[in-house]
Amino acid sequence: MADIEVPVFIVGGSLVGLSTAMLLGHHSIRSLAVEYHRGTAIHPRAAQTSQRTMEICRQVGLEQIVRRKSEEQFVQDGGVLAVETLVGGPIAHYIADLNEGVRDVSPTVRVFLSQDALEPQLRKRAEELGAELRFATEMVSFEQGADGVSAVIRDRDSGKTQTVRAQYMVAADGAHSRVRQRLGMRMLGHGTFSKSITIYFRAHLAPLVEDHKWAVVYVLNPQLSGFFRFEKPFEKAFLGVFTVGDPENPIMDVSTGLTEQRSLELVRTALGTDSIPFSIENIMHWEASANLAEKFRDGRVFLAGDAAHVMPPNGGFGGNTGVQDAHNLAWKLALVLKGLAGPELLSTYEKERRLVGEFTVEQAYSRYVLRTAPNMSRDGLQPVAPDLNIEMGYVYHSEAVVPEDPNDRLVHENPRESKGRPGTRAPHFWLERRGEQISTLDLFGQNFTLLAGPEGNAWTEAARHVAKPLGIDLDVHRIDENGLTDPAGGFCAAYGITPSGAVLVRPDGFVAWRDKTGDEASVERIRSVLATVLCRTK
Ligand SMILES: Cc1cc2nc3c(=O)[nH]c(=O)nc-3n(C[C@H](O)[C@H](O)[C@H](O)COP(=O)(O)OP(=O)(O)OC[C@H]3O[C@@H](n4cnc5c(N)ncnc54)[C@H](O)[C@@H]3O)c2cc1C
Repeated sequence: MADIEVPVFIVGGSLVGLSTAMLLGHHSIRSLAVEYHRGTAIHPRAAQTSQRTMEICRQVGLEQIVRRKSEEQFVQDGGVLAVETLVGGPIAHYIADLNEGVRDVSPTVRVFLSQDALEPQLRKRAEELGAELRFATEMVSFEQGADGVSAVIRDRDSGKTQTVRAQYMVAADGAHSRVRQRLGMRMLGHGTFSKSITIYFRAHLAPLVEDHKWAVVYVLNPQLSGFFRFEKPFEKAFLGVFTVGDPENPIMDVSTGLTEQRSLELVRTALGTDSIPFSIENIMHWEASANLAEKFRDGRVFLAGDAAHVMPPNGGFGGNTGVQDAHNLAWKLALVLKGLAGPELLSTYEKERRLVGEFTVEQAYSRYVLRTAPNMSRDGLQPVAPDLNIEMGYVYHSEAVVPEDPNDRLVHENPRESKGRPGTRAPHFWLERRGEQISTLDLFGQNFTLLAGPEGNAWTEAARHVAKPLGIDLDVHRIDENGLTDPAGGFCAAYGITPSGAVLVRPDGFVAWRDKTGDEASVERIRSVLATVLCRTK
């Protein structure tokens, strides 16, 4: 017998491991996550947090605290632009305002909050929801069999080892995932194209930046290409450096043999002046790569986050994509572990998320080449898609969705166009419940949800009949029932249904199935839809 028995064992307790533990806890599944480091992230790294990630934070009660922390740390609605040097001012604007033109699609907003500030919040919430997190603990080996995964973990301080037995394991162990390597899964893609650095420094930058809403400032000049990110009150910042030297023929390895003198020169060059005193606090070395794991699953082991896909930071997609992996996987593991879904449901994780991973990696790569590396070939480069499509317009195709058009292979679209089509994120639309404004998104997140138009009684009644015999919790809502109203009168159009139609929304807020008219409404039909998307044999 193992020292520790737990349904899900998570390797890695950084952004994605913590998110997985938290989201499993949200579905009442116990997990153990081990993290080699002694605590949560010490470097800021990721900061750009997409609306989709914020919607997930909203689901687990973290939205307001994340927004508050973000206000303390960053100017809100900051822009993304390019300069030759900071003192020289902008030469290009990529995004004027982080939330311009996207406020209508979500009840929440994009924010900047660095990883070292976000992770403690994820940690706290994961623990509140029952996850066990062990820091300074390494997973040293694992084996999987037909019934589960056995692993050995080691406490780094005492050297004591323990055995863990779990039904499933999630490898959230980062870009150099040893789990992935041990399973012999290759990484496919563009490889590593620069050995980059991030220089964390202190300087009194307020006079230069406090009057602007600058969140990410790319630096492009004959000496270097990289980017600045500034934190309030503008006494510290970081400079990420991708390449140095002639932009037409740059040196892609900035990291090897880097001296302190050279780091000082790079910051000075990017600032564009000798007159701002600064001191370097830390230097982080990392690789800019764009790769995707050939598989996201091997038996009972699932890859999530950077273990499954690595991409350059351009666009701020890497961490967000990992959080979305965790969100997709958590409810599936929960329903399979509770015996309410067939194990085949777990195959839909790879089917859905690998395609999204591939698209997102290519989009980050295109942004890297076009924004920072004019020397790199543009042959075969995927055209840049709107950020919004990448963040929340990705489309799922798998057994966990009943498609309306079996030939539909769309990978992404503007989330305003999806209008409740199966496989897409259920749209945000403001409703009212007993006089209080509520987003449609606030109706989803825990269980499957059937949401019907005001004349959709046939569906709501059928759904209420079917949940109990199937043993599942199904939330059922109809507009104009139980105080839920649609004062703007646009709900049906937003979901592409007539007043007697209905949609079935998965716990991750994606539409599993839709009936536009209500003509098909029957207990048998909803039973068969649920059995299909849960991959149940009965
Ligand atoms: C400069 C920079 C800026 C970025 N900006 C953004 C941004 O704005 N937005 C965004 O979304 N993304 C951004 N990213 C990307 C983001 O940081 C990563 O995608 C994210 O950290 C991935 O999280 P992860 O948990 O998958 O992996 P990691 O953060 O790499 O964590 C993996 C963890 O697993 C642990 N581990 C590994 N093996 C073991 C083991 N055997 N036992 C125990 N523990 C183990 C490691 O110690 C590590 O803490 C940025 C990255 C960089 C470098």
